Amino acid sequence: MRTADNTIEAPGAIILGAGIAGLFTALKLAPFPSVVIASGQSGRSGSSVWAQGGIAAAVGDDDSWSLHAQDTLAAGAGSGDARITELVAREAPQRIEDLLRYGVPFDRDSTGQLSLAREAAHSRARIVHVSGDRAGAAIMGTLSRAAAATPSIAMAGGFEAIELAIQDGKAVGLFARYGAGTDARLVLFRARAIVFATGGVGALYAVTTNPLESRGQGLGIAARAGALVADAEFVQFHPTAIAVGRDPAPLATEALRGEGALLVDHTGRRFMPAIHPAAELAPRDVVARAIHREIARGERVFLDCSDAIGDNFASRFPTVHAACVSAGIDPAKEPIPVAPAAHYHMGGIASDERGRSSIPGLWCVGECASTGLHGANRLASNSLAEALVFGALAAEDVRGSLVSESRNVKLPAPAATVAAAPPQRLRRTMSTLVGVEREQNQLRNALSVIRSLERASGGDPAAQNMLATARLITTAALLRRESIGAHFRRDHPQRAGNPARSFLTLQDAETIAANWPVTSRAAHDRNTQ
Ligand SMILES: Cc1cc2nc3c(=O)[nH]c(=O)nc-3n(C[C@H](O)[C@H](O)[C@H](O)COP(=O)(O)OP(=O)(O)OC[C@H]3O[C@@H](n4cnc5c(N)ncnc54)[C@H](O)[C@@H]3O)c2cc1C
Repeated sequence: MRTADNTIEAPGAIILGAGIAGLFTALKLAPFPSVVIASGQSGRSGSSVWAQGGIAAAVGDDDSWSLHAQDTLAAGAGSGDARITELVAREAPQRIEDLLRYGVPFDRDSTGQLSLAREAAHSRARIVHVSGDRAGAAIMGTLSRAAAATPSIAMAGGFEAIELAIQDGKAVGLFARYGAGTDARLVLFRARAIVFATGGVGALYAVTTNPLESRGQGLGIAARAGALVADAEFVQFHPTAIAVGRDPAPLATEALRGEGALLVDHTGRRFMPAIHPAAELAPRDVVARAIHREIARGERVFLDCSDAIGDNFASRFPTVHAACVSAGIDPAKEPIPVAPAAHYHMGGIASDERGRSSIPGLWCVGECASTGLHGANRLASNSLAEALVFGALAAEDVRGSLVSESRNVKLPAPAATVAAAPPQRLRRTMSTLVGVEREQNQLRNALSVIRSLERASGGDPAAQNMLATARLITTAALLRRESIGAHFRRDHPQRAGNPARSFLTLQDAETIAANWPVTSRAAHDRNTQ
């Protein structure tokens, strides 16, 4: 085990991540004590604060948990876990009640009922939202105020976690660094329960809608400690990121197409009607591939909202409006340039119905976990619902398995920590070789680049965590020789008829790369079940 400059004995649990999953877990744990560690600031870090549409939950009079579950399984191309899907669909409405109790100001209709929006592939209007497209910011503002007012929750911002401390096969602590340059220090947080809520992997790609904190660190840390990883190949690409050269790329929410906005090329020609009967409202992966192919043949693609939304743009979609105006585009009148961008990871640390990972003492919740809810493709607005449902379930499990202590935790003074950035070569490689469309030779080239970056990393643990995650995504994509949901293989464009989930450890991934192609078929059979 590493040696740290400082050891902190945390009473209760430590939670890594201060997005919706981390804060909700901490609130549900209270008054059981927890220390919430994050590289960013509470309420302002991670993807959660950027969420636009809202949360899916069967709360409408014409809706039911079973319809929500059916829609979720269909969007996941039949490869989701039916038991987990039922669990999330049944419990999501109670988690919305929790958010209302914390004070989240969800939009209401003229009768005072929750106002519900309908998004693509949902058979009912079931998305609760706040101020149009500002759900994430409003929810995170409310949760951070609630966490700050809860005495059992200690916030530790400005720490970059790099490694799990494992003793006798059990997670017993977390190494994190704080401060910058020669002042950087390493601290070991020791606790009897560790919950990862570290978000997604988007920033491992050159074009992403995710904040740069979403760089697969939690997944990499867990995988390097031996955790089982599920469905790593399933990365969702949002079709309509606003292509104005920003990193990360702002999002033009799907709701715009729901309102009738059209996808056109530079001449104003629509191309979606020739590709899918639902045209612009086809499943996300179909639209993303169509745009990707237009761009690959040198075309530019635009979202034209002028007829569908027009002058109401600023009031109906304030976040998208602000992003366009700051890039010199008036979206009420001018078409918005768009491109697909890495958006959501359906895969992650394999977890069970209580949020437990394969490592005793380590739970995982939110986007970093793979519960089996999303299958090969996520239904819009299901990720916040999943984070809430599993935050509550993991909290209950942690509370039930440990004895509460009431010690106060003493944290080092906050320091300016500069979290490691993903190498640009890795980001370009993931976008071009492990992106919207994949094929065997390109995936093998990506593994060679990852190998050379691993050698050049000089043992830096943050780089190794990101590279471990990239290796798992790429290897799982290589092993899945079929096209399903968000995973499209140009060399295997058909579905193999086997909607199995995939499971890999980092050690499996390394062995497979070293022995390819000899063991590839056997490895695939072993790792899909
Ligand atoms: C633009 C955008 C719009 C979206 N809209 C919706 C929507 O409308 N509905 C929906 O359901 N989903 C939406 N999503 C997806 C959803 O927002 C995310 O899946 C969800 O917020 C993830 O929450 P989380 O708590 O798991 O992770 P995050 O909110 O990403 O939080 C991760 C936390 O982990 C911390 N962290 C990570 N690694 C480390 C480390 N090594 N050391 C210390 N701290 C670390 C980060 O600082 C952060 O605090 C959207 C995503 C994006 C990007």
